[in-house]
Amino acid sequence: TETLDTRDPEIHAAIQAELGRQRKEIELIASENIVSAAVMEAQGSVMTNKYAEGYPGRRYYGGCEHVDVAENIAIDRAKQLFGCEYVNVQPNSGSQANQGVYNALIKPGDTILGMSLDAGGHLTHGAKPNQSGKIYNAVQYGVRRQDSLLDYDEVQTLATEHQPKMIIAGGSAIPRIIDFAKMREIADSVGAILMVDMAHFAGLVAAGIYPSPFPHAHVATTTTHKTLRGPRGGMICTNDADIAKKVNSAIFPGIQGGPLMHVIAGKAVAFGEALRPEFKSYQEQVVKNAQALADQLMKGGLDIVSGGTDSHLMLVDLRPKGVKGNATENSLGRAHITCNKNGIPFDPEKPMVTSGIRLGSPAGTTRGFGEAEFRQIADWIVEVTDGLAANGEEGNGAVEAKVRAEVEALCDKFPMYPNL
Ligand code: PLP
Repeated sequence: TETLDTRDPEIHAAIQAELGRQRKEIELIASENIVSAAVMEAQGSVMTNKYAEGYPGRRYYGGCEHVDVAENIAIDRAKQLFGCEYVNVQPNSGSQANQGVYNALIKPGDTILGMSLDAGGHLTHGAKPNQSGKIYNAVQYGVRRQDSLLDYDEVQTLATEHQPKMIIAGGSAIPRIIDFAKMREIADSVGAILMVDMAHFAGLVAAGIYPSPFPHAHVATTTTHKTLRGPRGGMICTNDADIAKKVNSAIFPGIQGGPLMHVIAGKAVAFGEALRPEFKSYQEQVVKNAQALADQLMKGGLDIVSGGTDSHLMLVDLRPKGVKGNATENSLGRAHITCNKNGIPFDPEKPMVTSGIRLGSPAGTTRGFGEAEFRQIADWIVEVTDGLAANGEEGNGAVEAKVRAEVEALCDKFPMYPNL
């Protein structure tokens, strides 16, 4: 009967403070979102108590009849959302989904071809500090200097030269739509498997406003917590029975033990929400808001990498204002606008400094912001970067305080989790 506030006041206070932070800050981190109270309820449920190694109907523990219901529903809904035959909803994260696919389909020492971190790829696509860059022979492609668009010619050239076993499409900072048919054509030309990591844009795919990786991808991975707006976690989708079988064994018993059944219940709830018509309107608004934000930032004198966005995210090139990514992230943070510094393609600055910030609209759109609010947010970002440009690293405290007060006033108009 004891509740968190009396059982553990320190953790209760940290959670309350985090709720307060989320309520009074504008969240522009492109990989974050705000889950529904229903998703949180499922995730905070008694299913956290349950061991369920194995898969529905084939478990290594008794008492799995109810968690089986949750996992089967999650799988069925995911199949519907992504138009595929086989889904594994057990990966604990996007990274583990990718690791599971690699373990299932390629061997240590094999060559993989993924997008470099600098160009917008993810660590798990063969970056040096990640396991994927250590145990495989990772070759990396990038974007074109002239327009920052994915360099398909380079992908083809590197594929022909290095004969990869697997080509990976997708990443963490790619604002434009990826041509999956083209990637498959390249993969076929060298007999490689095409894996699409749709972690960032999975919600847009589910809503039908971003091309589906299928039928082009042999296998697709995703996180469930970004545009898809579910609990933190991963998932693997395919239409190939043989790949599905190998993937299942690679996740359990390959790299995981008992699946997080409370998280899988949360995934099921989120997928149910994503099947509703409102989700399509939500994702349409996500893209409109991102485009309004990008447009207004350009009007304010900032550059947007590739000149705009087709999705939920953009990379802002701060160089026209002469400011750096790290200082801008900090200054915006003091104004209660949360984002992350991010290298831009061919960035002359170090990764801890950068010339850019990455911005996304999913969380703000869930909160209820429309294009007018996102244009206002762009104006605040321009004010803060102008303050930085004039005052150096420390930023302009007066501008930050003024913007912070206006940000908080906007946040008050769009309440979050009113029942918490
Ligand atoms: N793949 C892509 C494209 C991502 O952007 C991310 C997350 O940043 C991941 C995989 C990894 O997901 P997680 O952080 O859940 O391990």
